[in-house]
This record gives sequence, structure tokens and C-alpha cells, in this order.
Amino acid sequence: MRCVALVVAAGQGIRMGGEIPKQYRPLGGRPVLRWSLDLFTCHPAIDAVRVVIAEGHRPLYEEAAAGLALLSPVTGGATRQASVRAGLESLAGDPPDLVLIHDAARPFLSSALVDRVRAALDHHPAVLPAVPVVDSLRRTRGERVLEDVERADLVRIQTPQGFVFGAILDAHRSAPPLGFGDDGAVAAWAGLPVVHVPGEEDNVKLTLPEDFATAERRLIAAAPRRTGQGIDVHRLVPGRRLVLGGVEIPFELGLEGHSDADVVLHALTDAILGAIGADDIGTWFPNHDPRWKDAPSAVFLRHALELLAERGGVLEHADVTILAERPKIAPHRAAMRASLARLLELPEAAIGLKAGTCEGLGAIGRGEGIAATALVTCRFRNPG
Ligand code: MG
Repeated sequence: MRCVALVVAAGQGIRMGGEIPKQYRPLGGRPVLRWSLDLFTCHPAIDAVRVVIAEGHRPLYEEAAAGLALLSPVTGGATRQASVRAGLESLAGDPPDLVLIHDAARPFLSSALVDRVRAALDHHPAVLPAVPVVDSLRRTRGERVLEDVERADLVRIQTPQGFVFGAILDAHRSAPPLGFGDDGAVAAWAGLPVVHVPGEEDNVKLTLPEDFATAERRLIAAAPRRTGQGIDVHRLVPGRRLVLGGVEIPFELGLEGHSDADVVLHALTDAILGAIGADDIGTWFPNHDPRWKDAPSAVFLRHALELLAERGGVLEHADVTILAERPKIAPHRAAMRASLARLLELPEAAIGLKAGTCEGLGAIGRGEGIAATALVTCRFRNPG
């Protein structure tokens, strides 16, 4: 049984406001449309995917669909009904057995939901995902609350909606342009027996600007996180500048090292590399390489942040502790925190910066060197 997913992305997204139509707006680092395309193109029950787009949206579509193997898009009409019709007609020359029709504004459909709709199509020509209504329902007029509406037999209908292709194509061809809300309504109008399978509360439709904000918050909350730690120690010697956290601190001694020997940035670099399971700072930047002679350690930190970004990660928080008998760190803390915020592209509130001594104990306690530890938390792109 050949099954095509038809993704309807032909709306102008007017209710959402903003410059970009909602189906192309970025959500968790991907255009809204891309979320369902990524799911359908990877799903074993789906043989091909076609998108119905609005007139003039081709460049937005090309960007959102980059790198995916899709059937060429078709242009929709003035209403959702007309757009779906155009999509179905475009498949009619080489008709699939089944079609799943999905609204691009629902980016969070799951693979299991596709399975349920697809499985029910073995026994029914029209299948809709539905979720129960849990809130009490009342009819209203103006501010007046009127009678109770019995909710026991009411459901909320979602997409993807599954159909036997020939049946839904015939239904659309014969349906009047009444602005049907969805294809299940077209199927019911045409007399097809329509059944429902369990939908998903997460399969929300992004309609209002606040839906978008809620979806972003949900993605951030659900994103996988990892921590990483880094530790560094350098010896204090005469004739060197003292640089900590990217800030030069006036002192008669400086840290010895091949680069500028900024222990704070070295510890942070290793912590970020640790969070992504990458090799340590000494492997990336060997201390015999003349390129790193007296190099500002921000170069190393930037490299670690680039590797993190390549792996879909974002730094959320960094916590640094400096151990130094002298000089006093407290007078320089504000400048160091501002420098770290700039280098890490984090708000200052997301940076911990503490300093202490070793109470005269050991090499650090004798003032022979300075040590720093760093702990970072990174959030990774939700796999969807
Ligand atoms: Mg070091």
C-alpha cells in the first residue's frame, strides 16, 4: 500500500502576525514546517511527501525543505479546502493507495500518531485523530454564560487525517466550496464513514502568537542537557601579564604558559569540550604549536563554543571558581563577569564566579600558582 503525506502549508498566517508566515517561522531552531517534514520523510509507513504552499512562498519553502527528498511542491488556493484539492489533484496522475493530510502548523505530531492513523486505514476509508474535551463547555452570549453543553461525546479533531486516496479525491471533487474546516468534514459530507483514533495533547496547532511562545518554552524545557567540568592550574612567574577571565589584572607576577595562560578560560574551554565529549584543550591547541604562542585564550573558548554549536548545543550556564592566594580577585570580579558574559554570550545572571584562597595550604596556598575550575550546563536541540 503506497502512502503519501500531503502537508498543507498554504496559509498566509495572518492571525499570527509578524513578517514570516507562521509555517516558516523558526521554532526550536527549525522552521515550523520542517518539523513535520523531518518526521514524515523518516517514517517507514510514508513513501513520499508533498507540500502545498502559497503563491509566492517558494523561496521560504526551499529554505525550509533544504536537503530533504520531497515531491515537488504544488501551489494551493484561496481556502484550505482549495489547497488540499490542489494537492490531491497533483497526486491523481500517479495515485497512491492512501494519503495522510497534515497541517504544517502542527509541528509536534509523533511517529506513533502516524502509525495509529495508518493502521486504522487498513479497515476504514477515513481516519481522524481526536482528543477528548476535558473542560466544561457552556454556550455564551456576550458576557452572559448560558446553558451547559454535554461534552461526553465531543472530541477535538487534529491532523494528520488519513484517507483512502480515491475516496477523499472523489469527495473533494464533488464537495461545494463551503469552507470545510478539515478533510474529515469533506469526507463526512460525501457520506464516507469517518472514524477516530486517539490524537495527542502535544500535537497542538500553532495559531496565536502565545501558542508560539508556549511551544518554544516547551521545547526548551524538554531539551536534553549535559554538563561538563574543567580544571586548570598555571604557575605564577615574574615578567608575565596576569590575565583571568579575559581581563588583565595588575600584579607583579603573571601566569606562565604557552598562550596567555588564562586559567579561567582554559577551565571553561575544557568544561564545554567535556559536555560534548570532545578532546581536551591540549589536544586541540598543543603547547608546542607556534600559532598559540601568547595567544589570547578567547580563541580556544570560541573554538569550543563553535564545536558545541555544530553539535546542536547552546550554553545555558557556567559556574567558575578561582583559587588564588594573591592577588585579591574581588575588586576585579565585576569586570571578569562582564568579560565572561561577552565571551560566552550569556547574561551575567547565568554566570557564577567565585574566588577563594587555599588557606596557605599547598602550592596554591604558598602563592606559587592560580587554579580554576568550571562547570557548564549545555542544552541540546530537541530531536523532535
Ligand atoms: Mg591551561
